[in-house]
Amino acid sequence: MTFTSPVPTTAGTTTGTPTGPTTGPTTGPAVLDADFYGFQDLLTPREQEAVLAVREFMEREVRPLADDYWERAECPVHLFKPFAELGTVGAAWPECAPFESSAVFRGWIGMELARVDSSFCTFVGVSSGLAMSAIGLGGSPEQRAQWLPPMASGDVIGAFGLTEPLSGSDTAKGLRTTATRHGDTWTLHGAKRWIGNATFADVVVVWAKDTDDDQVKGFLVRKGTPGFTATKIERKQSLRIVQNADIVLDGVEVAEADRLQRIDRFRDVAQVLRVTRDGVSWQALGTMVGAYEAAVAYTRQREQFGHPIASYQLIQDKLATAYANVTASFAMCVRVAQLQDAGTQRDAHAAMAKSFVTTRMRETVALCREACGGNGITLDTGVARYFADAEAVYTFEGTRDMNNLIVGREITGHAAFV
Ligand code: FAD
Repeated sequence: MTFTSPVPTTAGTTTGTPTGPTTGPTTGPAVLDADFYGFQDLLTPREQEAVLAVREFMEREVRPLADDYWERAECPVHLFKPFAELGTVGAAWPECAPFESSAVFRGWIGMELARVDSSFCTFVGVSSGLAMSAIGLGGSPEQRAQWLPPMASGDVIGAFGLTEPLSGSDTAKGLRTTATRHGDTWTLHGAKRWIGNATFADVVVVWAKDTDDDQVKGFLVRKGTPGFTATKIERKQSLRIVQNADIVLDGVEVAEADRLQRIDRFRDVAQVLRVTRDGVSWQALGTMVGAYEAAVAYTRQREQFGHPIASYQLIQDKLATAYANVTASFAMCVRVAQLQDAGTQRDAHAAMAKSFVTTRMRETVALCREACGGNGITLDTGVARYFADAEAVYTFEGTRDMNNLIVGREITGHAAFV
């Protein structure tokens, strides 16, 4: 099976004629032009095959509809199940994985999704990353057996409710949603904000403070539970396809059996966030790859002063900077994934990658937009969607500030959050 990127990134000569592929040292089946240093060599043949299947799905099913859905701020929920049937949604969990895989592979899949549409990556990632990781890491064996297989098959879609109207960066200490136990039942009161997928999810992982010990606990709130309402946040200008919601929890009753049994305090939640933060770094990488590919394609065909603009030094400077950002970010994502597999990854490793890669992403999408001139701000040129979506990716899973404070704490030994 071979696959050629729909947007070759071959450099033009002064006359605009491609001079040959600028791919990395390898020529394997899953070659991606933006993979300049050939990181695909780290994937097994089975993983490369799965990457190809995902790339083909994204090109066939998602790319053709992404701009329209983005403009209408609607989510192609119907694609979740066919995507899940490719077998990568539960790849991290032995009970649902079709084959054993590396963290590099799982991150790479997220990159492939974001390369075509960063919203689709978020839509899938909220369920397969945030919600499944919360259950996989925080659930009892029975809870894992109950929830992970149907989530991996796409029959159940999850959401993850941590952020609140009055608590974003300070969720470690500032959660106001409460959970009170009465026998075998808990009652939840409070509000959540920005919760992706919550308007249609079958299960929402809700984080709340136990009124007894003041520690954060996790609860599986099923669709239709009385007292739970989710209202879509309108007029969003980034990741418009993702359905984010304001949630109200007004006396929501949850059985003790639906409390995540291995979550006792916020430190346990942080473990989940470390893994999912790695996923957002890969998402940021994919977002800049998508913008970069579109900018290369546009600048090679757009002529000014009688020549393709790609033949001018200042345009090449922008493309070379974007390419270097992609390549450096790739290296960081790969290494952080390897640390995850080795079991040696610390919070600061994930935080540094998230901060660095999303910052490089922001610069990259701006350079790519700039290289496309005025047309770069229309969806038609293929850069504007990435440009707008980058802002949300830069912000969620900890802003740059918060992630740098995590790294700063590791450097200095001083926590400077407050
Ligand atoms: P704030 O915490 O209010 O921060 C505002 C600014 O102040 C930032 O620049 C921040 O860096 C800065 N700041 C805050 N504290 C400090 C400090 N001590 N020192 C220096 N600067 C500081 N959450 C979920 O739980 N589930 C989801 O599914 C989800 N999806 C999301 C999807 C989108 C599109 C978006 C935009 C957000 C989503 N979030 C979700 C929430 C996201 O994680 C938060 O937006 C993020 O953590 C930042 O919180 P905040 O927006 O409340 O900003």
